[in-house]
Amino acid sequence: MKRREFVAATLGGMASIVAGASVQAQEKAVTAFTLANLPYAFNALEPYIDKMTMEIHHGKHHAAYVNNLNNATKGTETKSLEDILANVSKLSPTIRNNGGGHWNHSEFWKWLTPGGSQPTGELAASITRDFGSFDKFKEQFGQAATGRFGSGWAWLIKQHDKLVIASTPNQDNPLMDIADVKGIPVLGLDVWEHAYYLKYQNRRADYVQAWWNVVNWDEAGKRFVTSK
Ligand code: MN
Repeated sequence: MKRREFVAATLGGMASIVAGASVQAQEKAVTAFTLANLPYAFNALEPYIDKMTMEIHHGKHHAAYVNNLNNATKGTETKSLEDILANVSKLSPTIRNNGGGHWNHSEFWKWLTPGGSQPTGELAASITRDFGSFDKFKEQFGQAATGRFGSGWAWLIKQHDKLVIASTPNQDNPLMDIADVKGIPVLGLDVWEHAYYLKYQNRRADYVQAWWNVVNWDEAGKRFVTSK
């Protein structure tokens, strides 16, 4: 290799290293929030929640909330998702919708488990104390889920030592400073049509009924015990 060619090749190499570093820096800035894999297979909740719904719900809907949130927060000081939710009244509707969407779905996947379970321990005792019985709780929660007009969520919320049920529109949740009913979400149910339409079409009540079979009560119980 002649000297001139060597210099050109070396400079070219350095330029691509520098370019690579700046691409990495940009990627780092715009990927503050990430989409975690589901903690089970897409078909693991069959027959109650079907594989295709789970694939689209996680891979398209949740992924879009993450991408939109990253785009909307690009170039701003990085805040935790919880911090965003607690101050959402001061932020843009895009951050409210997609920040809520990302948090709600990240937790929703953990609140589901193949085979389901039953509430136990302190949470089971508190449900009986605050709603009369587990069946009465299910009835009231089901009403919040089916009664929510349009898109939204139903929640079991811990307010200090008391449990309450509420629903929120769109991707709002009880951690947001704008929520009518605030508190720690112990359990949440997505009642957007995208969560059930492929299998249940307009029959939201059937979806809610089926969902009880795949609720992860261990996860709910953990949140109830560890949250203040
Ligand atoms: Mn959803």
